[in-house]
Amino acid sequence: MLHVYRLENPIPIPALKTLNTYLIPCGDRTLVIDPGMTVESASTVLEKIREEGLPGTITVLLTHFHVDHVAATPYLDPEEVYMHEADRNHVIRMVDEWPRALESMEDLFLKAGMPHGEASLLGKKHPAMSRIDVFRKLRNMGPRQAPPKLTVGSCELEIIHTPGHTPGSISIHIGGGRWIVGDTVLGDITPNIALINWETDPLGDYLGSLQRLLRVEPRIMYPGHRSVIGDPEERIKELILHHERRLREIIDILSSSPVQLNAYQIASRMTWDVAYSDWSDFPLSQKYFAVAEALSHLKYLVVRGLAGLSTRNGVYYFKPLV
Ligand SMILES: [Zn+2]
Ligand SMILES: [Zn+2]
Repeated sequence: MLHVYRLENPIPIPALKTLNTYLIPCGDRTLVIDPGMTVESASTVLEKIREEGLPGTITVLLTHFHVDHVAATPYLDPEEVYMHEADRNHVIRMVDEWPRALESMEDLFLKAGMPHGEASLLGKKHPAMSRIDVFRKLRNMGPRQAPPKLTVGSCELEIIHTPGHTPGSISIHIGGGRWIVGDTVLGDITPNIALINWETDPLGDYLGSLQRLLRVEPRIMYPGHRSVIGDPEERIKELILHHERRLREIIDILSSSPVQLNAYQIASRMTWDVAYSDWSDFPLSQKYFAVAEALSHLKYLVVRGLAGLSTRNGVYYFKPLV
């Protein structure tokens, strides 16, 4: 049975405060899952390795490409870095096609009905799009594809693809029904399901991933933030229910409107678990999250014939079909 250390690693995101970094001794090396966000995150990891007398040779495995999980990776000077092919390709494309990747995201937010002044600040205010430096460093480290069966030193890990939160999110079985799940399942936060490319269906992917996780009958889940989840089945079912309610809420918003609405207008009318009572008070980064989350639900409805889409002046407008 693999031994796992959970490290509450401080990160400079006030809403989250910490990231869970997991350390697993694997014979002659230490496996570090999600090193964190800053130089300080890396120091915290290295200190823990020294304190526990773990091997100094490091292999990094990333549950997904988000900045709070990956940015500290170069500072650990790992021998190898693994991530899922889909997230690896996403990072490579973003870097190699910069700034086209930024422009296509701006374009999507404009199609969502976001005012030009807000969409044009993506490169400065979006948590990922403003950190291309992080992705450049990660890309230069030559991350490898994490295969379904990954051997690291003496550790054998089973990896399943659980897309939705990102295209290449993974869940890692470390034996005994124990799963390290990144941000796919969180205990007291609802994972953000963002659509950032209209050709994709992240919510459909995500609900499929939750079903997949139910089928493996997890006993305990180690999430990317906050506490360990002792009853994963119950939490997964809550998340499924949350999105069903969200879809219903959007259909209700569409049905009660005399005119067709765009994603930006819909996001402004949805209920958000945030400290701001009014949409106009949302910081831009929160608006980006909210609009991308509204888009993932709208795309889900459109794909399944539950909402209709028409384009007017380059903006997508939606109507209910149920
Ligand atoms: Zn994430
Ligand atoms: Zn995270």
